[in-house]
Amino acid sequence: MNMSRRTFLQGATLLAGVASASQRRTDAAPQSPSYPYLGRTADYVDFQIIEPGRSITQVESWTLGGYGIVRITTQDGRAGIGQLSSFEPDITATVLHRQVARHVLGRDPAGIDALVDGVIDANMKFPWSFVCRALAGIDTAIWDLYGKIRNQPVCQLLGGTTAPVPVYGSSMRRDIAPADEAARLVRLRDARGFRAFKLRVGTPTGHDRDAAPGRTEALIPAVRQAVGNDVELLADGNSCYTPPRAIEVGRRMQDQRYFWFEEPCPYWELEWTAEVAAALDMHVAGGEQDNDLAQWRRMIRLQAVDILQPDLCYVGGFTRAWRVAKLGQQAGKLVVPHSSHLSLITLFSLHFMSAIPNAGPFAEFTIEDSGTTGDEFYRPALQVVDGKVKIPDGPGWGVEINPAWLEKASYQRTQQ
Ligand SMILES: [Mg+2]
Repeated sequence: MNMSRRTFLQGATLLAGVASASQRRTDAAPQSPSYPYLGRTADYVDFQIIEPGRSITQVESWTLGGYGIVRITTQDGRAGIGQLSSFEPDITATVLHRQVARHVLGRDPAGIDALVDGVIDANMKFPWSFVCRALAGIDTAIWDLYGKIRNQPVCQLLGGTTAPVPVYGSSMRRDIAPADEAARLVRLRDARGFRAFKLRVGTPTGHDRDAAPGRTEALIPAVRQAVGNDVELLADGNSCYTPPRAIEVGRRMQDQRYFWFEEPCPYWELEWTAEVAAALDMHVAGGEQDNDLAQWRRMIRLQAVDILQPDLCYVGGFTRAWRVAKLGQQAGKLVVPHSSHLSLITLFSLHFMSAIPNAGPFAEFTIEDSGTTGDEFYRPALQVVDGKVKIPDGPGWGVEINPAWLEKASYQRTQQ
């Protein structure tokens, strides 16, 4: 084929494409004028908690072990404290200071929706994970600032109260035999009044493998028998199963009246999880890893999960988690945030559950020693009394970071 012939054919193909597109435009039904952005619902109203007029002039971070604290300061000397997402906080702090802070400095904290969206837009080449982990520190610090300016706990800014919130005791262990796990949960039920527990089945991204041969089949009935019928039971697969195996395990749970089956399949395989949810009568829960709000919308539309579990820090902060809750509310779904350790994430989640209208029946509260209990990290420490945890009454998040922890931590600062 000579070049002129090839050029002619390409031109003809292009022209055919233009004609076809033109025809589609003529025949197309009118499109909806509304394109809610980054997880907003059609009726979403951006937050306006404080008067505009301030400017963020400084972003600081402290990292130590698995945790990282953020402080923002405004030009009038007001400050708020937040937390980077846990795990690898040194990497997250680097992202905070190199890729997030410059989009925050000089901005008015009153416009939090626009501010967090601006950070996402500016980082389009680096979507989600570490940008959201860092953004969570800024967002949660701004919410603390709001509470301190308004002299109210964060939950009260949004219509909630600091009344005690029921919690479920969340086991993180798979290296424990079924009988020992059952005995441990009975002791906790009696000592601290827990009325719900979550167990671990399978293995994380385990391709249907169990932590020990037959452990899951033994654990499900053993714990039910030990704790009795007045305690709700949940189980977490941590992305372990293919749908056939997940459905088999789920039916064993249904036989023992378990309340939810969490993350049964690799969480990115939404269709697999939707297949499990359709096959089971019990609730399927999930979403803790998901930090793309468009993916949240797809997850809800697919009916992949019944109970939404955004992690307020993985998802990029309180504001973005609020949008997940709004999407869930629109679809009639309950929300129980993921909060698997006793850093500020559990505190954020308690405020959040107090404020949203579609909170599930109990918040997550780890039963493991995560190294951040008592006064070691912040005070006052959260306490389980009669199966509930009181939200601190102080303004903002209502806690102070222990100065001794800050003293030991690695410090970075970016100023305007
Ligand atoms: Mg989980």
